This record gives sequence, C-alpha cells and structure tokens, in this order.
Amino acid sequence: MARIIDGTAVARSIREEAAAEVAQLRAEGTVPGLAVVLVGSDGASEVYVRSKARACQEAGMHSRVLHLPEHTSADELFGTIDGLNADPDIHGILVQLPLPAHLNSKAFLERVAPHKDVDGFHPMNVGRAFVGDPNGFVPATPEGIMELLRRERIDTHGKHAVVVGRSLIVSKPLASLLMAPGPNATVTLCHRHTVDLAQHTRMADILVVAVGKPGLITADMVKPGAAVFDVGVTRVDDPSSPRGYVIKGDVDFDAVAEVASAITPVPGGIGPMTIAMLLRNTITAARRAHDSARRRPAAAVR
Ligand code: NAP
Repeated sequence: MARIIDGTAVARSIREEAAAEVAQLRAEGTVPGLAVVLVGSDGASEVYVRSKARACQEAGMHSRVLHLPEHTSADELFGTIDGLNADPDIHGILVQLPLPAHLNSKAFLERVAPHKDVDGFHPMNVGRAFVGDPNGFVPATPEGIMELLRRERIDTHGKHAVVVGRSLIVSKPLASLLMAPGPNATVTLCHRHTVDLAQHTRMADILVVAVGKPGLITADMVKPGAAVFDVGVTRVDDPSSPRGYVIKGDVDFDAVAEVASAITPVPGGIGPMTIAMLLRNTITAARRAHDSARRRPAAAVR
C-alpha cells in the first residue's frame, strides 16, 4: 500500500515558514502584497480567489481582490493591470483564468510586469525558468510538485519521470524543472496524441498526471513502486454530497495506491501546495523589491 503524501501538512509548514519571512519583511518596513484580478463570475474561480486571499491574510500579507464585471472591456482590464504594475504596495499580480471569452488571456498575462508576475506565466519568466535563471518566477503548481519531491525525499536523479499533459501552467515547466541539472530526471511528456499512453506511464518511476479526466490512470498503467502525483481537479456531480459534487483527480486513487510506493490524494495533495508556493513567490517578489529599493539610494550616491 502506497504512502499517502499529505500535501495539506507539507503546505502548512511552508505557510508557517512564509509567515516567518513576512514577519521579517514587515519588521524591515515592507508588507508583501498580492493582488488578484477576477473578471466575471466563474464559481470555481471565485473559490480559488477566496482561498488565495485567505492564505495571504493568514501569513500576514496584504491581499487585494479586484472583482471586475463580466462585460469588462480589454482597455479596462489593461488599465487595471497597469495600475497594479505601478502600485508600490503590490508585489505580486495574478490574473485569474479563465477570462471571459471576449478577453484574450495571453495579452493580459503579458501585460503583467515580469517582476510582479508571481504566477510565472509571462514569456520572460517562462524563458527564465527554461534556461534555469533563478531571477524569474516558476508557476506555483510545478514548483509545488518539486517541493513535495524534495520534502518527501523522493529521489529523481536518473529516474524516469513521465508527465501526462503539456500545459504551460503545469506540465511543460514541470518537465523542464525535472530534467534540469540537480533533479536530473529523464523526462517523457505525453498528451492527447500520444500513442499507447499506458506503455509510457508504465515506465515511470515518477508519474505526474495533469489532464482533468477522472479515472484516466488505472492501476495497470502504473509501475509497481512508482511515486504518483495527481494534479487533476474535476468537479463530478454527486447528489449524495452536501455540495452536490465531489472533486476528483485523474488517478483511480484506491486501485493505484495498491501498486504505487507514494501517491498524492485529491483533494489534499497538489492543490494546497499550489497556494503555498504562490505565497512564497509573492514573498520573493516583495523581498526583491525591498532589497532593490534599499540599494537604489546607495547607487545614486556613487
Ligand atoms: P489543460 O490546459 O487543462 O490541458 C490538459 C492536458 O491534458 C492537455 O495537454 C491535453 O493534451 C492532455 N490530455 C487530454 N486528454 C488526454 C489523454 N486522454 N491522454 C493524454 N493527455 C491528455 O492542463 P492544465 O491546465 O495543466 O490542467 C490539468 C488539470 O490539472 C485540470 O484538471 C486542472 O484543473 C488541474 N490543475 C490543478 C492545479 C492544482 O493546483 N491542483 C493547478 C493547475 C491545474 P493536448 O495538449 O494534446 O490537448
């Protein structure tokens, strides 16, 4: 039976560490601030935004939610982002996806100043992550998976990691992090057009699934002893549940737990880590801003 990786517990310790770093920054005169821009009324997005704001407040950070109406124009949204880019109290900016259909998310993600792009979606930060430059931001979910691997002492060196999915938010940056010098994994990335998915997943020492299809990964697709990370989050109708739905991952949890050596549950696995790493990215942004503001007068004197 696999060890169940308790993402909630690991995330709690990261959030405690984050709170200590926030206290230090506050003592030095900077309160880390995160702004989340939400457009329209998507139920799941509203839940995510509330969780992010609550996590910020619990860590002693400043959090601002800008909830704009569904019919917000492109110019209005650009204006909002420009205002946040110029606001010294805001160190991190998130544009909550998905945006309404009339707004092209790429253009808005690129409008966020790279040094405040704590989601790591701006091409500048995508490129920095890809070349291994630590001065950018790595998206929170892949960074959370890497942190779980480290804290759970799961060896990646020379191991075969198979990532199912090729999104810019999770899978591509994760593949790049896993194969980098340090983790040194050999990486296979699969997607919808991969022929015989099971043939690939069965070779994985580390299997990460980020698709959004409950039950996609069954026990016969997993190598005995593999570590399995389930990123998928899908609401599935369930009239017997108080909310009328349950959250499901992509992995057939009960059956795969019989085969794997370690596995993340859904919920309680990757999700809490994503929020914890987002706090960490925002604190990093605040620390960089703080340190560069302190360096500036000295440079001017010289
Ligand atoms: P995404 O943009 O939703 O794309 C899904 C990916 O899965 C695509 O690359 C797609 O391939 C691939 N795919 C679809 N069907 C497949 C199949 N039968 N076999 C192999 N690959 C298949 O990806 P995402 O944004 O990374 O999200 C994936 C899931 O993770 C979603 O459920 C999302 O809600 C969840 N998520 C969770 C967190 C968290 O914090 N827990 C964070 C982010 C995302 P193609 O590219 O070929 O279409």
